[in-house]
Formats: sequence, structure tokens, C-alpha cells
Amino acid sequence: HGFTKSLPKIELHAHLNGSIREHTLIELASERNVTLSPKMILHDAESAQQHNDDSKEERLFWNTHPRFWNTRPRNLQDCFEVFEYIPKCVNDLVALRRITEEVLMDAAEDGVVYIELRTGPKCLLRRHHDDDGSGEGGGIMATKREYVETIVEIMNEFEKKERNRYEMEMECRAQDNMMQQQQIVRLALIPRLIISVDRAGTIEQADENINLAIELFQKQQMLPPGQSKYIVGVELGGNPTRNDFTIFEASFERARRAGLYVAIHIGEVPMKSYDAKYNEALAVINFRPDRLGHALTLSTSLIELLEKNPIPIECCPTSNTMTLDFASHHKGSLIDGIKMHPHLKKWIECNYPISINTDDSGIFCTNLTKEYMLIAKVFELDERKLSEIVLDSVEHAFDDDIKAKLRNDIQSMVEMMV
Ligand code: 5GP
Repeated sequence: HGFTKSLPKIELHAHLNGSIREHTLIELASERNVTLSPKMILHDAESAQQHNDDSKEERLFWNTHPRFWNTRPRNLQDCFEVFEYIPKCVNDLVALRRITEEVLMDAAEDGVVYIELRTGPKCLLRRHHDDDGSGEGGGIMATKREYVETIVEIMNEFEKKERNRYEMEMECRAQDNMMQQQQIVRLALIPRLIISVDRAGTIEQADENINLAIELFQKQQMLPPGQSKYIVGVELGGNPTRNDFTIFEASFERARRAGLYVAIHIGEVPMKSYDAKYNEALAVINFRPDRLGHALTLSTSLIELLEKNPIPIECCPTSNTMTLDFASHHKGSLIDGIKMHPHLKKWIECNYPISINTDDSGIFCTNLTKEYMLIAKVFELDERKLSEIVLDSVEHAFDDDIKAKLRNDIQSMVEMMV
């Protein structure tokens, strides 16, 4: 656990609202009088709070406890039922600020050094009620642009704070020769943003998000060199049983021409050669996105196509296990569930370009350390191999300006640790 936690990790597939802390969700629901369905809650309010408050030592113990390797099973349909409730709780910019900060804090504390958060812009209230009695904000709707700008603002503040923390800790270490020998200073977390399109929505809604992404992307290109540019790409996600990629293809082509990177979810529902899902997946592969999400249930011929001409795949071991309807098969054992992943073992062995990710750390009660520990245990991977997977995933990041630094920083850290 110690190695996996200290290993500087890269998160490329994390949905913002799906990464909400369970405790925060329960708290926001109670403040907003939302009744959560029992499917939503993995822990009761008390144990969610407890988990949140656990000291590092206690968490370390908890992580080595058998309970760590088990989880409450949820299938794909359950997950999408759960997703419906989150926007009712994260319904204003105040809650949005809170969850964005918490997700970044949790990732940093978990040893993540670069995270691409993805989210679909929503029209939220400025505040769900008039908190300060000023008469301002309560009940007024904010725009999708404000949603994105709020996240960018928080990312910017967070990145600065993290950089300062890192510099201060390095300074302390330099002044203390004893410490210098042993202490590993956690690298600063660099956050970036991907704008999501929900495939359950209309083409007009998709275009609205893509236009916003293009506009803000072009605006940030005017920033002076050295300033962080947060918006790096667009993605297609949402309920995979709804609509078809091809209706959104022209919108994603526009985004790509404007210079944005593109990631598309693929292979989340079973498919047979020549059925509609097969044709859709073929169209996605022929579009050549920069990355694919999951690619779990692809037919053999599509997998062969990818292996001949690879597109990096964002794997999410715990989430993938749920998608494979582990609920009905594995009685909560993640180890057994991940063993059933149809391709992961082979992809790791033959160095297919993959990254390891959490998908929805709140929904699946996970973090990146846990995901790496799981694959290490299931596929018997040593520290070198885990480091190689992280270093390979740097190459799939959507911010090209940051890659060389990430590569060097991670490499030096790994050399100190292995
Ligand atoms: P948000 O975009 O609201 O910040 O993040 C939550 C949304 O991400 C969900 O409502 C859902 O549309 C999408 N999402 C989260 N996890 C998955 C997943 O595993 N597969 C797909 N296709 N979409 C997901």
C-alpha cells in the first residue's frame, strides 16, 4: 500500500459529479430535502462521516482490511439511477465549488499528480437559498459558462496552493539533513478539465457544450506563456443505451478541428457482430478519437482492429467490474470481478497503451491507489510494472505542455522509491 500510495499517479478518466464524497452527497441531500434512494448509499451517514474523518493511520489499516477488497455491487443500470440524484444535490454553484475542491483535495492526498476531470456543464442556481440574507443569489440561475468558469477558477486556486505547498516542503527538507534521507515530498497536483457531452441529450445540447468548449479553449490560447490552460478536451459519455455516437460525430469533428482533444466512451454494453452497437463502436474506432473510455465489451474483430492500430484506452477496473454485471456473479469480491475483465491482463502483458483510472470514485467507493493495488494483486504486478503503467499513461494526457515535466518528476520519484 505504501508504495502504491506514494507512486505519483495520473488520472485521465474521472467524472466530477461521480467523484463526489459519499458523506458530502448525504449532507447536501439533507440540506436540500432530497430523499436518496437506498441504492445510492454504500454506507450509512455515520460510517460515511467516519470514513471521511479517519486518520491516515486508520485508513491505512482499513485499506489492508479484507473489507477493502469487497464492495457493494452496482450494475450499469443502478449507476445511472444513482447519477439522476446527484444534480438534485449539487444544484448550485456553492455545492459545485465544494465538490470540485474536495475531489481535487482527495486526489492530491492520494498521490495523484495530474488529473483530467470531466463534466457536463449544467445551468445551476447561484445558491440554492439566500445564504447570507443579502437578497442576492437565491433562486437565480447561472449559465453553463459560469459552471465551467467556476471549475476553472477552483482549479487555478488549487494548482497555486499545491505548488506553494510543494515548494515549502522541499525547502523544509533541504534544511533538515536527517529528513533528506527518508522523506518523500508529494509532488504538486496539476488539474485539467474535459467538457462532457451527454449522449442521452439532443444534438443541440451537445453543440451548446462543444461551442462553449471551443470558445473557452480559444480564449485561453491568448493567455501569456507559462499560465495554465485548463480546458484540454471534450468527451462523449452518459447512458450507453441511449442514442448513437454517429449523431454527434460532426460536433466532435468540429471540436477536434479547433484543437481540442477527444475521448469517447465505447464498449459498455454487450454487442454482436453487425448489430447496432457493433456498428456504433466501429464508427467510433474509425473516427480515431485520441482516447477511448472502457472498451470493455468489444467484439473480437473490433479488438483486433484496435490491436493493429492502437488508440489509448482508459481502463477503470472497479467500474468495469460493475459494468460486467459483477453484482450477479461475484458477491462483492472485486478481486474475482477484475479477473473477469476480458482484455486487461493481455493489454498489460503486451503493453497496449492503457491508463488506470477511477471513473466515479464516489459512486464506486474507490481511489487511484486502490485501483493500482487491485490490478497489482489480480495480475501479480511488481512495483516496476506499476510505475511503467503510470509513465505510459503520461503519454496519453491531453496537456502536451506538461508531459515532459511529468515524465521527469515521476521518473525521479520512482528511482527514489524502487
Ligand atoms: P458529471 O458530468 O455530471 O460531472 O458526471 C456524472 C455523469 O458522468 C453521469 O451522469 C454520467 O452521464 C457520466 N458517467 C459517469 N460514469 C460513467 C460511465 O461509467 N459510463 C458512462 N457512459 N458515463 C458515465
